[in-house]
Amino acid sequence: MSLEGKMLIGREAVSGSSTPIHAVNPATGEQLAPTYAGGTQAEVERACALAEAAFGTYRETTLEERAAFLETVASEIEAIGDALIERAMAETGLPRARLEGERGRTCGQLRLFASVVRAGEWLDVRIDPALPEREPMPRADLRQRHIPLGPVAVFGASNFPLAFSVAGGDTASALAAGCPVIVKAHSAHPGTSELVGRAVQKAIKRSGLPEGVFSLLFGSGNEIGQALVSDPRIQAVGFTGSRGGGTALMRTAQARPQPIPVYAEMSSINPVFLLPEALRARGAQLAEGFVASLNMGAGQFCTNPGLVIAVKGPELDAFVEAAGDAVKSSAAQTMLTPGIHAAYEQGVGRLSGNGKVREVARGQVGESAHPCQAGLYATAAEDFLADPELQEEVFGATSLVIECAGLEEVKRVTSRLEGQLTATLQMDDADLEAAKALLPILERKVGRILANGWPTGVEVCHAMVHGGPFPATSDSRTTSVGSAAIFRFLRPVCYQALPQGLLPEALRDGNPWGVSRLVDGKREA
Ligand code: NAP
Repeated sequence: MSLEGKMLIGREAVSGSSTPIHAVNPATGEQLAPTYAGGTQAEVERACALAEAAFGTYRETTLEERAAFLETVASEIEAIGDALIERAMAETGLPRARLEGERGRTCGQLRLFASVVRAGEWLDVRIDPALPEREPMPRADLRQRHIPLGPVAVFGASNFPLAFSVAGGDTASALAAGCPVIVKAHSAHPGTSELVGRAVQKAIKRSGLPEGVFSLLFGSGNEIGQALVSDPRIQAVGFTGSRGGGTALMRTAQARPQPIPVYAEMSSINPVFLLPEALRARGAQLAEGFVASLNMGAGQFCTNPGLVIAVKGPELDAFVEAAGDAVKSSAAQTMLTPGIHAAYEQGVGRLSGNGKVREVARGQVGESAHPCQAGLYATAAEDFLADPELQEEVFGATSLVIECAGLEEVKRVTSRLEGQLTATLQMDDADLEAAKALLPILERKVGRILANGWPTGVEVCHAMVHGGPFPATSDSRTTSVGSAAIFRFLRPVCYQALPQGLLPEALRDGNPWGVSRLVDGKREA
């Protein structure tokens, strides 16, 4: 499939007329053809009009129709073949194996949502039958189900060009909920976005769905994104990116005459706690595992372990030395974009220029145009507590070790942390009491607590929470990974005393859709 450098609006491919975007190969700095001229308000208007027109039909698709559509999207992405992997490699600098894995995850995610749609649990049907004889007041028949919110704007992430981009988790969960999607492509991988966008377009055609179920817009300089979030037809937003970008979109969404939810996943430094017995028993092994996690994807993972917290002493010194040695021998990897590379260098500069922070080790320098030179730094807990800047995410393979005087100081540091996606406990049996003391604090700070693993690597499943309090996300009540992500794009509606013929089928007597229902407070078999 050859790339045309066009936006996809409904069934059409449309040339933009505003400032053009060029993908850049971050390994070489060379510009990649074609040019993607950005969209304007006119394209936002057209995409939103089509999405609104499609919503009525799309939300009424049967469970089977919608599930089959999601599976068709997955098959169409697979059908692009190697061209998708090669383009993504050129645009992101990520290696083949990582991108092939990510394609598998993306298609697996679409198929997971297909199975979720079929099962119908997401409808969350509840029925409280009428109690006409109840004293002093009778109860009316009350029935509830979830319906989709309406057209959703999705901002593709730079760091997962497939799994969090055009047909990634936000798009898959919004489409599963019954919402048309308009994607604002990330400017770092426009060609990859076009290829995947065309696969979605084909799936819509093959499934006989209205064209406005999906559109793909390009544009940089915030104009398109702001116009999209401001459009009154957009009813929710999914975003993965910087704290500045996420909070700007939250403000725009709140300032609308009708404010809408923004599900933004932004910034997290993912503390790792090395509890005393684990540190004593296997410090060297922990150092090895930690640096492997730190270096994954050049540290450009939202779950990258950017903070290590432990009690100071010879065991921590040995860990720091071993981790420092591993960092020193870490090869530099290419970062995703020139902008992300520049932001990384600035972040590392902030750490190395901070008089209270000591440099433990830097990795190898690297020869690509935008290399990530790994870094490990350390500071005392009291200095960390005194300087909020030390909690700022350095997006890349750099981490900061916090040396605490004792477990009480570990707790004090933990309770001052900002919201996080994850917290990791490295613990042995004898650390159980220390871990128990931390758990209630961690539950208030993070979305996922892990023991004896590493935070990078997020399973796409039913129990996953990829979320957490601000600034990890804009709404700690949800997840952006896993099947529960669908609930971001749904809302409950209650139907009181409606005749059977007027009720949605899933709510009618006899359970014609055969979905799980809560009837008078009891789960129907
Ligand atoms: P970004 O700058 O936040 O951009 C993400 C998307 O949001 C782009 O499509 C961008 O469009 C749009 N956008 C940003 N600010 C906007 C605004 N004020 N109004 C409307 N749209 C806006 O993120 P990025 O380019 O992916 O990476 C930059 C930094 O984000 C990284 O250095 C890193 O610190 C952080 N990051 C964090 C994570 C994480 O998971 N924690 C993931 C990726 C990136 P335009 O092209 O129009 O600006």
